[in-house]
Amino acid sequence: MFFETWWFIGLLAASSTVLIWAVLRYRFAAAQRRERVLQHMVDLRTQEVRSLGSLTEKINTAVGLEEVLEHVWGSFRMVVPYNRIGFAEVDGATETVRAVWARSDASEIKIGKGYSASLGSTSLGRILETGRPRIINDLVDYLERRPQSDATRAVVEEGMRASMTVPLKAMGHEVGFLFFSSQTPDIYTEKHARLLARISGQLSLAIEKSRLYDRLLETTKLLEEANQRLERAASTDALTGIANRRVFDERLEIEWRRCRRNSQPLSILMIDIDRFKRFNDLHGHVAGDECLRAVAATLTDTLTRAADLVARYGGDEFGAILPETTPDEAVRLANELRMKIGKLELKDLGPAAGFTISIGVATGVPTEDRSEGDLVRSADANLYAAKNEGRNLVHSSPATEVP
Ligand code: GH3
Ligand code: MG
Repeated sequence: MFFETWWFIGLLAASSTVLIWAVLRYRFAAAQRRERVLQHMVDLRTQEVRSLGSLTEKINTAVGLEEVLEHVWGSFRMVVPYNRIGFAEVDGATETVRAVWARSDASEIKIGKGYSASLGSTSLGRILETGRPRIINDLVDYLERRPQSDATRAVVEEGMRASMTVPLKAMGHEVGFLFFSSQTPDIYTEKHARLLARISGQLSLAIEKSRLYDRLLETTKLLEEANQRLERAASTDALTGIANRRVFDERLEIEWRRCRRNSQPLSILMIDIDRFKRFNDLHGHVAGDECLRAVAATLTDTLTRAADLVARYGGDEFGAILPETTPDEAVRLANELRMKIGKLELKDLGPAAGFTISIGVATGVPTEDRSEGDLVRSADANLYAAKNEGRNLVHSSPATEVP
């Protein structure tokens, strides 16, 4: 009896020890497993953070909106699956959302640039309020329940079956939405939503920055165009469309210096319509204006070298600058012009309303002790002489050819 009791106690103690050892070992193994799982999760998160970091870094290097969105299209597959990405911007003033950009694996994009809807008529307003991505994993079912959703219908027609909508906010105001869609239903999970929620702040900033950049570019372009228009208006004669006197004076100064450097002759023509006052009195100012335009057109059609410049000097007087042109060539050109204009017929007036011009020619090789003003004075004097000699003439006296 005594031995049996001790034998029993001994057995009990041994089996308890084995049991305790087994429990402890199991617990230890479980703790090790848990640690391994935790370590794996930490590794995954670290990898996630790294890849999200590299994504946002890449996006931040892009400048224009198109470039930022192309980066998203090209590199977000490692975070979220998609066959289509669309971007729509929110116009806070009009409470509308407007599609701006879309890329799709589908052959046809049915809801691209230009599509717009009021925020209130869609469920997007609520998504903006929550600030969280929204997942629809069965777009066909969603469309059946909301047949009024044109945007859903369009992406379903493109072949998309699931979507995740990411609201974008930057610096306290609404920027817009990124729509990720997939041809595979049930593909989006909370993990995708969580990842995109984590980078949506940086993404919104990058997109907002690029939109501001694009707007700045657009404004700069508009300003440049307005400046060019102003510049053109300031340098063009409104009636004839050719250069005005300001341009003539500026160009003459430049050409004078250039020809002086190169020891080349510079010729100018001062051209004046004969008895233009009488022409106006006889045919009226409208015909007079037509006459001025016809003279301007003949000048530009005849003096076609890139370096030549024709300008309306004022009233019925025109000027032409002919760099590197000898006196003989200048006189030849002046006579060609005179003859062409003598044969001009104005549209409604016919041959009876013919008119002529007189031209004063001056040529000189610029020197230190002279200025371009001397050349103009010389041409003016020759024009005056042509008028005095009976008009419809080219005058270029040897004394005034070289000032
Ligand atoms: P001349 O042969 O001596 O040059 O005689 P002219 O009558 O041409 O000379 P004048 O300088 O006295 O007259 C120039 C005229 O040109 C006076 C003006 O009515 C006319 N004129 C000036 N600018 C314009 C314009 O823009 N349109 C029209 N239709 N006429 C103009
Ligand atoms: Mg005149």
